[in-house]
Amino acid sequence: MPKKVCRQETLKCRQVAKRIIKSAKKRDTISAYEARVLSGVTVWCVDQRCGKAYQSSGLVTIPLWSLSEKEGNGYLTYYVAHELSHMLAKKRYGERGHCVDFYRCFVDVCPSAVQKYEYDYQKRSPKKMRAARRMNKENPGRFDNSSGMVMFGERIS
Ligand SMILES: [Zn+2]
Repeated sequence: MPKKVCRQETLKCRQVAKRIIKSAKKRDTISAYEARVLSGVTVWCVDQRCGKAYQSSGLVTIPLWSLSEKEGNGYLTYYVAHELSHMLAKKRYGERGHCVDFYRCFVDVCPSAVQKYEYDYQKRSPKKMRAARRMNKENPGRFDNSSGMVMFGERIS
């Protein structure tokens, strides 16, 4: 378990994660298998400066300050979607950073109404996101449709 966990807010972050996964699945931008993998990620809210995706242990942390009331839960939704996208990027592409492959996952996972918050993250984010959207459009078969039992990080068939 990470340090400085906020119990009450963790419940809220987990609800938000659930909604993000459900809506991406409904939009068909992630596969049923990927939705199950993301549902297996453990989300913690922490009183720390930054959130982080721990790709090999299957957990993500969300900083307490991101639970601001800015646009309802808009900013929080964006933050959780960003960290979940790191988990998907690892699954789909073995990707760890903020390259175009990360952004291809981000635009698939994050509700479009709150994707704008990513623009402030890196100077080149908007450019990478445009490229990512274009690449996804050209590759409708980008999903990992594996079947079998899901454990985070590996697959048991
Ligand atoms: Zn990141």
